[in-house]
Amino acid sequence: MDEREEEPIVLRPHHLLCTQGYSGNGYSTEFVEHMNEVVERLRYGDDRIRITFSTDTLCSCCPNKTGEDQCVSQDKVKKFDGKVTEYFGIEEKEYRYREIIKEVDSKMTSDIMDDICGGCSWYPVSACKKNIIGS
Ligand code: SF4
Ligand code: SF4
Repeated sequence: MDEREEEPIVLRPHHLLCTQGYSGNGYSTEFVEHMNEVVERLRYGDDRIRITFSTDTLCSCCPNKTGEDQCVSQDKVKKFDGKVTEYFGIEEKEYRYREIIKEVDSKMTSDIMDDICGGCSWYPVSACKKNIIGS
């Protein structure tokens, strides 16, 4: 399909970080297969995204999604979204993924990342911090 005919990828704010840290691990086989496709497109293909303050395209294949704007870890993921939104001024609108993550990463510090991601079970075992701030 012509790239320009594709819809923007819908992402919730904290997934601007998770998609950078992602290195092939996830909640289920279906989730990982879908995540692989999305991340491949964001990193190398048509990188138009639309931010939503709700469940997004990655949530759509996640076993933890329990409904529209509902996740088994609702309080936690809403906090992640809220912090990313606040720190980086993210709005519910369209962006270019590779542009916005460049901007986010340039403002990211170790303390900010600890504050956003400290409660995430992937944080100690993932490449998130290394990929985003290089340490
Ligand atoms: S530590 Fe968790 S919330 Fe933070 S970027 Fe990684 S997967 Fe996402
Ligand atoms: S854990 Fe929750 S926020 Fe994360 S991808 Fe799954 S449904 Fe979405």
